Amino acid sequence: MATFPPQPLRGTGFAGPLQEPPRGVANEVSMGANMNLLDLDLEGLAVFCDGLGEKRFRATQLYRWIHQKGQADFEQMSDLAKSLRGKLAGVAEVRGLPLISEHVSADGTVKWLFDVGDGNAVETVFIPETDRGTLCVSSQAGCAVGCRFCSTGHQGFSRNLRTGEIVAQLWFAEHRLRSTLGLTAGERAIDNVVMMGMGEPLQNYDALVPALRTMLSDHAYGLSRRRVTVSTSGVVPMIDRLRDDCPVALAVSLHAPDDRLRDSLVPLNRKYPIDELLDACSRYLDAAPRDFITFEYCMLDGVNDSPEQAAQLVALLKPRLPCKLNLIPFNPFPASGLTRSPRERVLAFAQVLQDAGLVTTIRKTRGDDIDAACGQLAGEVQDRTNAAERLSRRRQVIPIAAGAGA
Ligand code: SAH
Ligand code: SF4
Repeated sequence: MATFPPQPLRGTGFAGPLQEPPRGVANEVSMGANMNLLDLDLEGLAVFCDGLGEKRFRATQLYRWIHQKGQADFEQMSDLAKSLRGKLAGVAEVRGLPLISEHVSADGTVKWLFDVGDGNAVETVFIPETDRGTLCVSSQAGCAVGCRFCSTGHQGFSRNLRTGEIVAQLWFAEHRLRSTLGLTAGERAIDNVVMMGMGEPLQNYDALVPALRTMLSDHAYGLSRRRVTVSTSGVVPMIDRLRDDCPVALAVSLHAPDDRLRDSLVPLNRKYPIDELLDACSRYLDAAPRDFITFEYCMLDGVNDSPEQAAQLVALLKPRLPCKLNLIPFNPFPASGLTRSPRERVLAFAQVLQDAGLVTTIRKTRGDDIDAACGQLAGEVQDRTNAAERLSRRRQVIPIAAGAGA
C-alpha cells in the first residue's frame, strides 16, 4: 500500500500554475462536442463500442487505458487495433477538467480547483494519511440544500456535475499523485473516496451512480465498496435507490438530535424529517457493505453541543440502528455567524455518547491553512438560487440550546 510523505508535495501553500505537469496523462484537456469517455461506466463504454462495431473486450481495454493508466491519447493505447484508434479519434475524447489551481497544505493535504465552465469552479481535496489516501470529491457546482453552517450552501446552487466531471476529479488526482509521489505500477495513491466535497450527491443521483461504478470497477480504480462513501444531508428516496443500485458506505449528516433544530440547520429536514431518515438508514443496512451507518455531527458552539443534546442523540439513535458518530469541529467562515464548539465541550459531548456505547470519533481537521477543511470548500458558484439572502434571513431563527452558549 502506498505511504505518503508528511511533507507537502510542492512546498507549503503552493498556489499557481503546475510545474512539471505529467505528460500524456490525466491533466490533458481539450474541448469539443465529441463523446467524453469519462462520462461512461464500463457498461456505457461497451454500448458505445458496440455502436462502433467493436467487441466488448475492446471497451474493457479502453477503460483500463483511461482509468488505470491515465492515458487520454488514443494513439498511445498501443494494444488497441489501429482501426479502432482511428474511429475513436473522430467521435470521442477523454476530457478532463481544466485545472485552475493547486494548493498544498503544511500537513500534506492538497486542494485542486477545477473550472467547470460558465464561471463555476469546484474543489477536490486529497488527504494523505500514513497508510492510506482519501479523496474528497464534489458532486455539484454549489448546493441547493443551503445548510446554515456550510460555505458551499451559502454560495447557492448553479448546476449538477456530469458523471465525467465527477470521475475527472479522481482521474486527475490519482494520476497526478502517482507521478508526483513516484509510485510504481500497481501502487495507488487513493484508496478512499468520500463524496464530501461541494454539493449534495443524492440530488445528482443519475450522474453519481455511473461515477461510483467507475470508482468500484476492477478495470478502473478498483476501490472497495466499504471505501467509497456517499455523504448525504438526507435525501430519503435516493437513499433507497442507492441501496438497490449501488450500495456503498453511507454517511448521514445529522447535526441535531431533534427536528426543530435540524429544520433550522439542514433545511431538507422539513421535507424528510429525522424519523423518516432513520427508517431509510435502517433499510439501507440490508444491502450496505458496512453493518453500521456513520452519522456526521458538526459541533456548533451553543447550538447543538450541550450534554443534554448528546443524551437526546443517544436516545434517538441507540434503540434504532447500529451506528457510529463522527463529530466534526465546525470550520468557521465569516458569513455563517457561527463559532466552533470549544474543545472541552466536544470532548464532553463525545464522552456522553461513548458512555452509552456509541462508537464516536472526533474528526481531525486537515488542510485548514488552505481552506480545504470540511465545509470550507467554496469554489466559484454562479448562484441561481439567492442563497445568501435566504440564509441571512434564516440566521435569526436558529433555536439556541438550553443552557448552551458558554
Ligand atoms: N452534501 C453532503 C456532502 C457534502 S458536505 C452532506 O451534507 O453530507 C460534507 C460534510 O461536511 C457534511 O457532513 C457536512 O455537514 C460537513 N460540513 C459542512 N460545512 C461544514 C463546516 N463549516 N464545518 C465542518 N463540517 C461541515
Ligand atoms: Fe449542501 Fe452538504 Fe453543504 Fe448542506 S452540508 S449545504 S447538503 S454541501
